[in-house]
Amino acid sequence: MDDLDNDVGVTDEMRTIRDTCRRFATEVLRPAGARLDRLSAEQAIAPGSELWDVLARYKALGFGGGASIAAPDLSPAQHALLHCIVLEELTAGDVGLFVTCALHQMMPTFAASFGRQDLAEFFAARDELGCLAVTEPSHGSDHVAFTEPAYRDPRIKPTLKVRRDGDDYVLDGQKSAWVSCGTIAGSGAVFASFQDSPVGLADGAAFMMPLDLPGISRGKPLEKLGQRALNQGEIFFDNVRVPRRFLIAEGPQAYPMIWEALFTGANVHMGAQLVGVARAAYECARDYARQWVQGGRPIIEHQAVKLRLFGMFQKVEVMRSHVRRMSIAAATAPGGMLPYAKAATVKVYATQTAFEVASEALQMLGGNGLTYEYPVEKLFRDARTSMIEDGENYVLSLMAAARL
Ligand SMILES: Cc1cc2nc3c(=O)[nH]c(=O)nc-3n(C[C@H](O)[C@H](O)[C@H](O)COP(=O)(O)OP(=O)(O)OC[C@H]3O[C@@H](n4cnc5c(N)ncnc54)[C@H](O)[C@@H]3O)c2cc1C
Repeated sequence: MDDLDNDVGVTDEMRTIRDTCRRFATEVLRPAGARLDRLSAEQAIAPGSELWDVLARYKALGFGGGASIAAPDLSPAQHALLHCIVLEELTAGDVGLFVTCALHQMMPTFAASFGRQDLAEFFAARDELGCLAVTEPSHGSDHVAFTEPAYRDPRIKPTLKVRRDGDDYVLDGQKSAWVSCGTIAGSGAVFASFQDSPVGLADGAAFMMPLDLPGISRGKPLEKLGQRALNQGEIFFDNVRVPRRFLIAEGPQAYPMIWEALFTGANVHMGAQLVGVARAAYECARDYARQWVQGGRPIIEHQAVKLRLFGMFQKVEVMRSHVRRMSIAAATAPGGMLPYAKAATVKVYATQTAFEVASEALQMLGGNGLTYEYPVEKLFRDARTSMIEDGENYVLSLMAAARL
């Protein structure tokens, strides 16, 4: 049975795109991701690194930002389904490397979603990696959690401060080393709060801006546990003058609203990415169980192993269903946005489940699962990382609970 047979509205064209993505994941993303994983964070982004070749080959596939697809003949529901399929296939290759690729042309896609055709055209012409700069060295969840009291507490001061100056804005301070592609992105969606607002971090200004303005510099790339092919790094702003045309929202009403809209979409996107990681881990465990012999027969013939494999298979099926259902719901909802609590279920459930499946897969391989000979230990690290990426899971759960 084909893995798309359970979905409604799958066309031949969608199957062809699925097959192309699967080939790219198997032939390009997975082997390159495994090699980049073994390099230092500096080596991974150095000139001549395989990263740049992968990015060039990804660009040739013709996706928009976030691996979005221009397919005007598809309905919004079909479009959302196809996007989930693409994300699953590509992240089954390598999730960290995929996130890097997906940040290519992210800025025009964001700008268009905010109705800013002028900025969409401006950034499309630059043909570069984007980034989303929110987290600060002393404010991670504080900047994310728009439902929590700390977000509106005037005693909490931003590390990156913004002020108005005539028609322009001035940014001063820094974003943390957790910004994905922070040291290599050419442009970014930058979120900054006003320093002495009575409503704290919630009062800010969001920009979509080039990151080559005078006064901007970058830190060193960060070493981390998983998704190592994905660059992370600080961005410093030394009294950077930002022309008003790069502003997308400001003030205590519009600023949190635009962050909520962006973050709600990001939570669904993130969940969809982890289906591929979980599937890859399950497939690795299944293939290993078919060929690894203990007790005189392949371990898949032991009943306990069969049960464990079914448990993993079931988790992948359930997470995939939830991801696709919520993605279609978001695409067909008024305003294209889910209530936050629903979006959070996608990110929290999918990342947690991917971690459980990867952990069980590692166990299935016994000692071999711990070695670099097999892809499972990396899938385990990649999945673990996703439970903090784009919002730490307990904090997202608290935010969702605040909206129940
Ligand atoms: C792979 C990866 C990619 C990332 N990419 C980006 C990016 O592109 N751009 C960007 O801006 N950021 C990015 N981040 C940062 C990410 O969003 C933050 O790591 C995340 O929001 C958590 O912040 P923190 O790490 O500072 O943890 P903290 O917020 O310091 O949390 C530490 C602990 O405190 C708990 N905690 C915090 N606040 C509360 C609260 N109010 N109530 C109860 N418990 C609380 C948390 O549950 C957690 O266990 C990325 C992170 C990772 C891992």
